[in-house]
Formats: sequence, structure tokens, C-alpha cells
Amino acid sequence: MTRAVMRFVPYKTAQDVTAAPTYEAVCVSGDVEDCGEESGQWLTPHPVEVWMRAHRADTGHGRFRRAFVDYAEVGRAE
Ligand SMILES: [Zn+2]
Repeated sequence: MTRAVMRFVPYKTAQDVTAAPTYEAVCVSGDVEDCGEESGQWLTPHPVEVWMRAHRADTGHGRFRRAFVDYAEVGRAE
């Protein structure tokens, strides 16, 4: 049996500021299947909120899956 020697290597994760984060939502209302209508990707959360409220007003659907997407870079911590 060999014994592994683990060496601690410090890493840090930071947001990649060269890639803009995005916000989006998809309608998951529905009894049997989700509606599936999507807001599209936006650079701020406000247009997603506006889309969800309009979709609620148009369809009565009120349940959404929201996502915030960004890019990360992991590097050695110095
Ligand atoms: Zn819907």
C-alpha cells in the first residue's frame, strides 16, 4: 500500500471581468409540462423582471427559473 502525500496548493477564483454576466428566466409554470417560454439573455436584471411581469399579465403564469451567468477564472494564489 502506498501513501499519497497531498500538498496544499492555494488557488483563488475571480470573476472574469472581460466577459459580461447575463441574466435570464424561463417560465416553468404548467400542470403537466413547463411553459418553457424564455426571456432571452440580458446584461441587467431589470429587463428580465419586466418580461416576467408581462408574461404573467399575458398568460397568468407566475413561476420562473431564473439564472445569473458569469465567467470565472481560477489561478494560483500568490
Ligand atoms: Zn409561461
